[in-house]
Amino acid sequence: MKCSICGRESALEEKYAGAPHSLMSVYNSDHLNLRDLEIYYCSACGHTQIPAHISEEYYEDYSMGSFWGASFKKTREQQMERLATLAPKCERFLDIGCGVGHYLELAKKYFDEVYGVEPSITSANNAREKGYSIINDYFHAGLKFESGFDVISLIEVLEHLEQPGGMFTQAAKLLNENGVMIVEVPNGQRIIEKRLYYNLCTDHIQYFSVTSLVVMAQRAGMYVVCVQEAADPNLLEMYVKKPAKSRSTFSDKRQSALARIISQISPKAKVAAWGAGAESACFLGMLEGKVQIELLFDSDKSKHGHHIATIPIVKPTEEDVGRFDTIILFANAHKRQIQSQLQQLGYTGEILTLEDS
Ligand SMILES: [Zn+2]
Repeated sequence: MKCSICGRESALEEKYAGAPHSLMSVYNSDHLNLRDLEIYYCSACGHTQIPAHISEEYYEDYSMGSFWGASFKKTREQQMERLATLAPKCERFLDIGCGVGHYLELAKKYFDEVYGVEPSITSANNAREKGYSIINDYFHAGLKFESGFDVISLIEVLEHLEQPGGMFTQAAKLLNENGVMIVEVPNGQRIIEKRLYYNLCTDHIQYFSVTSLVVMAQRAGMYVVCVQEAADPNLLEMYVKKPAKSRSTFSDKRQSALARIISQISPKAKVAAWGAGAESACFLGMLEGKVQIELLFDSDKSKHGHHIATIPIVKPTEEDVGRFDTIILFANAHKRQIQSQLQQLGYTGEILTLEDS
């Protein structure tokens, strides 16, 4: 069969007899429901899949996964904290396949408006009773929302679908610029690597690897922020970001940084810079002929006594820093530390940074 993620040919790896089939049907039944599976593996993206054996309607009364153990809860609390940091704004949050609303409950601590989509009527009603705004439907292109979302979550959803990339791409369309999406799936890579036979079932037809998650995200035009084994190793999690439509060039960014710096320095000011490391040559090249830098301060003893393009590199002392009206920070990575060092040296002049916000 064709790999549902990258489209290459997946090879039949194994015929496996007696996997749990249609998990919901086992409850209150006198018989176990088992089915033989064919396991296909894609060597191009490391994705494993089994042919679909379950009809879509099955999920209209689905309630698996509605109980969260402590380990899953902790993992998801950590996810939410990270999402709030990565999101462009903490305003609109959408959970696709929200179940009874556990993830929305975590989201509402950080986000102003939280929404859910859930095909199971029982779960959707349960979430509505808790006060959440839920669309009881499968997620599809026809669903209408007032506006885009800052964060969208797909928690334990994609492993059930024949075309996970299709839903992922559709969800990405609803994200605002720089909006963030999280995907959490069972750790297919671990299941395959360790041959965790007890994790195979017909409810799960996609077994993702780190690579197949990345391929899916890239095909949808998303930036991958991070893919990893979650705090609970039974889960894989991926954070992606929707790129802004119009992006400035490196040259544009440099030009606007230069214009800003020049506008902040008075013509008669005596100017020094702090930092004689890797970024300094870039900044000196940019400022050359526009801003006269007289000294370069650096905390690294091995650089003292040397110079860059005739500008001496010296140890920062109270006397030397005091001679300048303006000090530009070249060492972006150590900005806070340098600011506090300058304060300790009694510096009261202007401190400018070249770092973008
Ligand atoms: Zn593949």
